[in-house]
Amino acid sequence: MKKNVSPDKGNKEEERSLNFIEQIIIEDIRTGKNGGRIHTRFPPEPNGYLHIGHAKSICLNYGLAIKYNGLYNLRFDDTNPLTEEVEYVDSIMEDVRWLGYDWEDRLYYASDYFEQLYEWAEKLVMKGKAFVCDLSAEEMSTHRGTPTRPGTESPYRNRSVEENLDLFRRMRAGEFANGEKVLRAKIDMSSPNMHMRDPVLYRIIHASHHRTGDKWCIYPTYDYAHGQSDSIEGITHSICTLEFEVHRPLYDWLIRELEIFPSRQIEFARLNLSYTIMSKRKLLQLVKEGHVNGWDDPRMPTICGLRRRGYTPGSIRYFADRIGVAKRDNVIDVALLEHSVREDLNKKATRVMAVLSPLKIVITNYPEGQSEEIDAVINPEMPELGKRSVPFSRELLIERDDFMEDPPKKFFRLAPGREVRLKYAYIIKCEKAVKNDLGEITELHCTYDPLTRSGLPDANRKVKSTIHWVSQPHSQEVEVRLFDRLFRKENPDDAEEGQDFKSNLNPESLKVTKGYITSGIDGAGALDKFQFERLGYFCVDPDSVPGRMVFNRTVTLRDAWARIGQKNAAR
Ligand code: ATP
Ligand code: MG
Repeated sequence: MKKNVSPDKGNKEEERSLNFIEQIIIEDIRTGKNGGRIHTRFPPEPNGYLHIGHAKSICLNYGLAIKYNGLYNLRFDDTNPLTEEVEYVDSIMEDVRWLGYDWEDRLYYASDYFEQLYEWAEKLVMKGKAFVCDLSAEEMSTHRGTPTRPGTESPYRNRSVEENLDLFRRMRAGEFANGEKVLRAKIDMSSPNMHMRDPVLYRIIHASHHRTGDKWCIYPTYDYAHGQSDSIEGITHSICTLEFEVHRPLYDWLIRELEIFPSRQIEFARLNLSYTIMSKRKLLQLVKEGHVNGWDDPRMPTICGLRRRGYTPGSIRYFADRIGVAKRDNVIDVALLEHSVREDLNKKATRVMAVLSPLKIVITNYPEGQSEEIDAVINPEMPELGKRSVPFSRELLIERDDFMEDPPKKFFRLAPGREVRLKYAYIIKCEKAVKNDLGEITELHCTYDPLTRSGLPDANRKVKSTIHWVSQPHSQEVEVRLFDRLFRKENPDDAEEGQDFKSNLNPESLKVTKGYITSGIDGAGALDKFQFERLGYFCVDPDSVPGRMVFNRTVTLRDAWARIGQKNAAR
């Protein structure tokens, strides 16, 4: 098998101390455990689209394998035919690939192990370690007890091995209805750990599976399938989220009883993000009930949503690395995610000028019918890319916000009698605000100083402010989608009595508006990225068609995280 290649190759990685999982791995390599072999996996259940929390898990599992010269698998944990679909399988593969990871020939499905898992279940039955139970789901849950009160043993617990084997085989053969019987491990109904109280290993589900069709009508539970799948694949470090810590004794019990390869399970704290919902069930609700326009709505925390929003794979990997690996649950500020994409796009995005909320200006001393090309940089972070040219003419559009008729003290942009620099071009002075009958400003009359253009004698003359602009006759109209957070509350689950997370949806999370652009976007295709100077990073939405471009704002240029970071540093 080939070794995985790092998608980060060439990127400067920040030096930081080893996290606790790395410490375990390094110790295992040092002591020669598993022959020094490192093998991880990402085990999604194909019952929804991947989100940024899954991205964290992917980057962690795969990043460790890459860093320590190991291998990583992609395994679909497809043990529940009722909720799983091929659509999800496909989207998961697309998202993992897009993040920059290549599982090569190591794509697996838990459903491929059904036969092996079944054989192992028979082995448990034959060892007297599993039994067929006829209790209903409700009865089972009352029998289970509570964390402080032991459970009661099932009346079916002492069936003979022969009877259990016969019943289990008949379960497989389809002789019983859904819920009529289950196979349970025989462990300890008084264990303080509820997961050890004779947990269910197999249940009857008469349903077609997206891969095995109607071959099976009994399906292994997650707890039974998951650990054994890790063993089958020889996973050395089975990394999962904290809620599975209490399941670990069960996994270890199964490994011991079945005498199979002992994968070591290590738990870490799942990623929680402020202003963000990360439950697949709730995300599905948002999609199904039309609160968003599909899984890839740019406001969704799904990987496909982030992609459509304009996030880059590198920015997500950087984010996953920055947040590190915690042992306790915590909430990460969503501003850090936004900071991560800003950092990345700053280096990559072509600069253009666009005006979203236009105010027309007429340069009265600029000859009518004349225009010229002005040099502007493509990306100041990459001077080697050179220059782009921007048309300038007598009629321009500027941002309405960049003018005030009666400005307060701290407003340094355009006002009657005031000068500003038009970025890359001339200094202009506002001579007059023209109004309509309603007293609304319809346009400004300005004069320009011809000697203030780059390369001319007064090019460096200082004014207090520089604003962006476009030439009106050269401009094309585009659609612009501006996003705000999908939820108004930092913790969207914190809802009023009788309400749920949806009551915290932000009704203003999407604003569709028009924009005017002159140059720099010709030939741009879906997901191409730009910085609209002073307005933010934008990407071309796949909804664009020739003549009707649509742009999504990825983030504004204001970096809340950098500010928070500075404040913390100053403390
Ligand atoms: P559910 O099991 O409720 O359907 P899930 O989000 O756990 O939802 P899985 O498909 O089981 O979905 O997740 C695949 C992997 O991603 C698991 O190993 C899981 O631990 C990990 N994972 C899921 N959510 C997060 C998160 N928020 N942060 C980090 N890892 C996560
Ligand atoms: Mg899960």
